[in-house]
Amino acid sequence: MFRTISPLGVPITVLVAAWWLLSRVPSFTPAHQDLLGLAPYLLTGAGLLLSIHFRRGRICLLLILSVIGYYLMNEYLAVGGGATPRACLVNSALAILLPFNLLLVVLMREKGICGSAGRMRLVFMGAQLLLLWVTLHEESQTLWLQLTQPLLNLPLQRYLAIPQPSLLLLAVGTLLAFIRSLTRQSPIDGGLFGVGAAFFALLNWPSIPNVIPLFTAAADMILVLAVIQESHNMAFRDDLTGLPSRRALNEQLPALGGRYAIAMLDVDHFKRFNDTYGHDVGDQVLKMVAGRMLHVSGGGRPFRYGGEEFTVLFSGKGVKDAAPHLERLRRTIAEYRMSLRGDDRPKDDMAGQGRRANSRTSREVSVTVSIGVAESSPNLNTPDDVIRAADQALYKAKHGGRNQVCLSGRR
Ligand code: GH3
Ligand code: MG
Ligand code: MG
Repeated sequence: MFRTISPLGVPITVLVAAWWLLSRVPSFTPAHQDLLGLAPYLLTGAGLLLSIHFRRGRICLLLILSVIGYYLMNEYLAVGGGATPRACLVNSALAILLPFNLLLVVLMREKGICGSAGRMRLVFMGAQLLLLWVTLHEESQTLWLQLTQPLLNLPLQRYLAIPQPSLLLLAVGTLLAFIRSLTRQSPIDGGLFGVGAAFFALLNWPSIPNVIPLFTAAADMILVLAVIQESHNMAFRDDLTGLPSRRALNEQLPALGGRYAIAMLDVDHFKRFNDTYGHDVGDQVLKMVAGRMLHVSGGGRPFRYGGEEFTVLFSGKGVKDAAPHLERLRRTIAEYRMSLRGDDRPKDDMAGQGRRANSRTSREVSVTVSIGVAESSPNLNTPDDVIRAADQALYKAKHGGRNQVCLSGRR
């Protein structure tokens, strides 16, 4: 459960913290209040450096937009309570530009910053800001007022300051980001969901003191943390299966102390499976195996070791304690029936020959795994020794007929 909602954990925490601080800011010292006013600029600077380094063009666009929005809100809304014609113009322009661009960012794929797509996007954003600047200069509200006209006559609108078209754009973008953050387990999508919520607060309660700096800083902070979390995942999470990678395993091995067991798991006859059904179906099988491994009982921590080999770490357990959990995992995988969809068939005719004959829309496939497990002992006193012993036990499991768990040092 926690693993499923983890991309939303950071944004929700930051938003709750911003909400909690809202009533406390007036008791801050003047110096701290000044710092809060600067926080969106500082966070945008940090966020831009990180996004440029990790080539996150979409995040760059949002950071630029939010910092310009912050500057304008400070300049026109904070002074005079947002009642001047320019304040109304800024209010309605941002009510369109923030949700519209958030939705675009949610819909667009990451294409970096320096490539032609990245440059085009920057130019498009620049054009919108130029339009805003021109209308602000001319004090021409017409366009923005037209765009923020109510779409329907709803009683709900009485309670919301945010215009209906903005709410619609924001709701679609935020909801899409929410769904994607759960289905793709992506911190960037989780971050976009958080930014959507922060934009809602900015646009709906701009006149509540400190909402503007706090929620702009929250949006920027969410983006900064999303870029950091995503880069961490890239280094330590396997892209195909979503499991922690071998690098993550190597980081955790030295921290294992005292008693522990390590299991090595290998898919049976996987080469034959790939040859029969194709590499894409093979990949789906690896995802299915990883999905079962995520739910391994007994506190086992799964990793993708490489190819069709996986590892499970059991801290504080010996092979006898780990064996029933591994046996249950083996059985769950063997009993799982995976149905092949029609689009699993290869599109390319040459590659498809031989596979198509085996691939029908309703076809079901299953795989088995062999597991070898070893524990730390005076003879096996480094994790590398234990992994080697687990590999030998795995070899025995393969020779014993596959689809079984073999314990190291036991017959
Ligand atoms: P055994 O039961 O002895 O383990 O036989 P096997 O065929 O599984 O063993 P082998 O090590 O010969 O084959 C492993 C195959 O796994 C070879 C490679 O094509 C496939 N493989 C490795 N990584 C991936 C991957 O990421 N995706 C897919 N689809 N196949 C992979
Ligand atoms: Mg293998
Ligand atoms: Mg294999």
